Amino acid sequence: MKFEDLKLHPTLLKAVKDQNYITPTTIQQKAIPLILNRKDVLGTAQTGTGKTAAFALPILHHLMNEKKEGNKSKIKALIVTPTRELAIQISENFTDYSKHNNIKNTVIYGGVKQIKQVKRLEAGVDVLIATPGRLLDLMGQGFISLKDVSYFVLDEADRMLDMGFINDIKKLLQKLPNKRQSLFFSATMPSNILNLSNTILNNPQKVAVHQVSTTADTIQQFIYYTNKSEKNDLLLHILKDEKINQLLLFSRTKRGADRIVKRLSQQKIKSAAIHGDKSQPQRQKALQSFKNWEIRVLVATDIAARGIDIDKLSYVLNYDIPNEPETYVHRIGRCGRAGEKGISISICEPEENIFAKDIEKLIKKNIQEIKNHPFPQTEKPMNAKQKKEFEKEKNRKKQEFFANRKKNRNSTNGRR
Ligand code: AMP
Repeated sequence: MKFEDLKLHPTLLKAVKDQNYITPTTIQQKAIPLILNRKDVLGTAQTGTGKTAAFALPILHHLMNEKKEGNKSKIKALIVTPTRELAIQISENFTDYSKHNNIKNTVIYGGVKQIKQVKRLEAGVDVLIATPGRLLDLMGQGFISLKDVSYFVLDEADRMLDMGFINDIKKLLQKLPNKRQSLFFSATMPSNILNLSNTILNNPQKVAVHQVSTTADTIQQFIYYTNKSEKNDLLLHILKDEKINQLLLFSRTKRGADRIVKRLSQQKIKSAAIHGDKSQPQRQKALQSFKNWEIRVLVATDIAARGIDIDKLSYVLNYDIPNEPETYVHRIGRCGRAGEKGISISICEPEENIFAKDIEKLIKKNIQEIKNHPFPQTEKPMNAKQKKEFEKEKNRKKQEFFANRKKNRNSTNGRR
């Protein structure tokens, strides 16, 4: 199938051509005709499948046919998505696809001042992309009315519930006009998500691509087994390979991410971290400098990285092995997108061996082990008794740390 077969508006076909898309992805082939036919859609698809264009193109098609020249734009389409990164990306896609027409979009999200966002809203937009908190906030202040919305998209619904947005979504639904076309996307479809979709969609058509348990064949997967204390040295060893010129590195914790950046900078390897403790401008700056090839390594936690879309990203590295195998699938899905080739590298310490096995079971594939390297795994995973002792000792140290900190604070306060 070609894009021309989808009967989209010629300006959209031109924009798609500018993006060098040749064939529609599976979700696009399935969803675009349904949305053009004004059906509600329940889509099981994750980022990386081309899902944004699957809803953006037919919505733009409708908007162009309905647009009355000369009138100030009103919000006709609302796209709600859980994270700022995803919201910005969706907006960038809408801008790309509207290059040859006059459909205006804007994006709003929290964590930054509202003034610029309000100004753009006041100038009039056709498509609004928003995260839930800021959307309700600006609605409450009277800057946004949803009364003209005829297209509503709820994106990454599972993530939305994970992040605790359920009440925000319920409030939002009360404000949306009943007569509308609704599209609902989620990477997974457990029963709570299906229940939510029932409150939003009207007689929906279902489309599904890629279960979360599948990894794209275009991604080659490798694993190094090593010791906990040697992970950093192994990372530096891996980075000696100059072919790895743009690496997205996952760290389980925010502190771990900062530590990795510090160690890389000691070796003059340019990197930056994005995670929940970084401000929005910091995160955007890090992402932009990574996209512009100004830094070689972007270190991210799972939540911060969700939805990140880096064109032609080839390398992903797991500095730790996630204990939920689905997280691994999401992580490595950042590379090898839309048919491009990708390479995922995992570094596994003894305690994580068991997680690596869980992943292989889920994806029904063996991850190729790199055996010849200078930091082979020599330590054994702890047995149950050792683990208990280890946890006990860890808690003791933690308590000691907090007690000392409190003591120090008290003595400093006393001096003031
Ligand atoms: P998404 O799943 O919407 O995050 O899209 C993932 C990536 O695939 C983005 O970089 C899109 O620009 C790209 N993409 C979307 N549709 C196509 C297509 N039909 N052909 C090639 N690339 C595409």
